[in-house]
Amino acid sequence: MTDQGNAPGLVLKNATVLDYFPVALDATAAPRVATTDLRVQGERIVARGDDLAPEPGDEVRDLSGVTILPGNINAHSHLYATLAAGMPGPARAPENFTDILTQIWWPLDRALDAEAVSMSALTGAWDAVRCGTTLLFDHHASLSCVLGSLDLVEEGLDKVGLRGCLCFEVTDRGGKGQRDVTVQENERYLQKMADAPAGEVPRFRGLVGAHASFTLEERTLELLEGLCSRYGVGLHAHLAEGATDREVSRDRGWADPLERLASAGLLRPGSVFAHGVDLSPLDMATIEERRCWLVHCGRSNMNNGVGRAPVDRFPERCAVGTDGLDDNLWGELRTTFFRGNEGGRGPLSHADAARFWLGNFRLAREVFGEPFGSLDAGAPADFLVLDRFQKTPLNTDNWLGHLLFDFHPWDIQEVFVGGRRVYRNGDAAPVDGATVRATAARLWEAMGRES
Ligand SMILES: [Zn+2]
Repeated sequence: MTDQGNAPGLVLKNATVLDYFPVALDATAAPRVATTDLRVQGERIVARGDDLAPEPGDEVRDLSGVTILPGNINAHSHLYATLAAGMPGPARAPENFTDILTQIWWPLDRALDAEAVSMSALTGAWDAVRCGTTLLFDHHASLSCVLGSLDLVEEGLDKVGLRGCLCFEVTDRGGKGQRDVTVQENERYLQKMADAPAGEVPRFRGLVGAHASFTLEERTLELLEGLCSRYGVGLHAHLAEGATDREVSRDRGWADPLERLASAGLLRPGSVFAHGVDLSPLDMATIEERRCWLVHCGRSNMNNGVGRAPVDRFPERCAVGTDGLDDNLWGELRTTFFRGNEGGRGPLSHADAARFWLGNFRLAREVFGEPFGSLDAGAPADFLVLDRFQKTPLNTDNWLGHLLFDFHPWDIQEVFVGGRRVYRNGDAAPVDGATVRATAARLWEAMGRES
């Protein structure tokens, strides 16, 4: 920990503070709501308690009646998809998930050049901060702009002031040469992370990225395992996003996706798998046993028509992610809860819904080694300040009900990351809208989708 010396701090008086965990990294979740004071200095909360006395030079703010809570975390995002909003569709409407990939997302990731990658990351980060999301586990793809692309994603997040855990989707769909360069980009970024000077609280981390089992040859799985072992990190990949993953495996004469990943040594503790729609109870048990994370992307699953993930059977280590849709994590949690209630299998209990939400913070704690989700002394000062209008009582017993039915992005007045205010309601966007729209129009044109 660096010495903050006598740098002036910020004292927040009489705030209604919701946090989810004690500060100890190995602590189990213990969500609570309390009216108290916080003192922020440097990148962390340095004191919490009633009637905190400010130090000389501190800024003091009275937040009576104002709710403060930890910044939201997105366990699976695709910032590269930001400029697809409003894009004209393909000539023939996609009829299934394979069509959606081959007619929309794969042409998009081939059309992204460096400028479009940068603009997608920056504008996606701007969307995220306005939804109260302060840390994103991003899964990047831009097959015509591979080397250095994760630095462009990092720059976009950095300009807005957010944290990120980045990786590039390795795939064999562009042939061996392209496969090798996507592996190389993961390695380059992981080495950059390894060489980075130890900061106070890490802003960025890396995982090994892969698209999905069905676009990965056996040799590629070996290369991915080699990278994971060499850097001591997990894999971040799509898994069983509908039946396609398994069907392609069968057509190719491969084992089922989970079995392939297991045989390749890729079901490592800390690996992050998104979707899990088409997984059996036995598959779920295997994921649980291997201590991997399974991320529910409910809105994306519905949009792509890939089926309803068995949210009531997800493993202990579960989380929620947006899969390239907007970064409203409260909306994503709601969808998980509603999907649990739908279809006669549920309802998903409040305890189960809480497990998904708290999982995002547990995942970030594990990957970053920092006590995210806590607003106690010693925690990174990553938090949201809501407006003064709180229409129903908020307390330790009903915090989840507020996440499910109450809080909205428009309640967010300020966002702090590492003790720095990175957003205040009404701030101008970090880039001119006309410039972004010109980039988007050029991207769409490169895909043959002129508006
Ligand atoms: Zn995804």
